[in-house]
Amino acid sequence: MNKLICFLYISITTLPVVLSYLLDRKYRRKIKLITEDDNKFYNQLLSVTMKNFNCKPHVIEKNECSENCSLAYQKIIQAFISSAKSSICLCIYIFTLKSLTYELIQAHKRGVDVRVISDQIMFETKSQRDNFSILSKNEIPYKLHSPRSIKMHHKFCLIDKDDPERAKMFSGSLNLTNQGFCYNFDNTVLTNNIYVIKRFSDEFEKLWNLF
Ligand SMILES: [Zn+2]
Repeated sequence: MNKLICFLYISITTLPVVLSYLLDRKYRRKIKLITEDDNKFYNQLLSVTMKNFNCKPHVIEKNECSENCSLAYQKIIQAFISSAKSSICLCIYIFTLKSLTYELIQAHKRGVDVRVISDQIMFETKSQRDNFSILSKNEIPYKLHSPRSIKMHHKFCLIDKDDPERAKMFSGSLNLTNQGFCYNFDNTVLTNNIYVIKRFSDEFEKLWNLF
């Protein structure tokens, strides 16, 4: 009897310690893996500040004032889109920037699967409707959300999302408009972090099927 009590006492007191050690080891391994993976990823921030409020002429004249010029930012996004080999999934509240529309069309023409999701109310503004009619004419599919009372307020774009070697994305507060690049305090983060991309990819497919 004493032996049984002794066994139970030892089991009850040591089990939590062993479990805690095993869980801690598993957690540390996971953290190490993420830290190692982190070195493979880049994360670039485009931040639109007051300095960009003078950049509209630079955008029009195609003459960038610095590496943080609105024109330089537009070129980075343009290069991002033009690098696509297999797919582009753009989910954007306001999209009127013709230089980026042109990049989507070029991508579509070279066989990239281009899909766009946008906002129903913003679609009713002339500049957005005109831009989307260009997409339509070039047979690029897009979807608009309903009901009208809710905004489709996302701003993200996935490039080659199903190819872990090439996948990248940008996301933030920035709309793809001259206003966004020149006159708002805005941000967008560019990353190739496949864990983040996977989550945004799931979100895009969910919305694409919903709308
Ligand atoms: Zn500038």
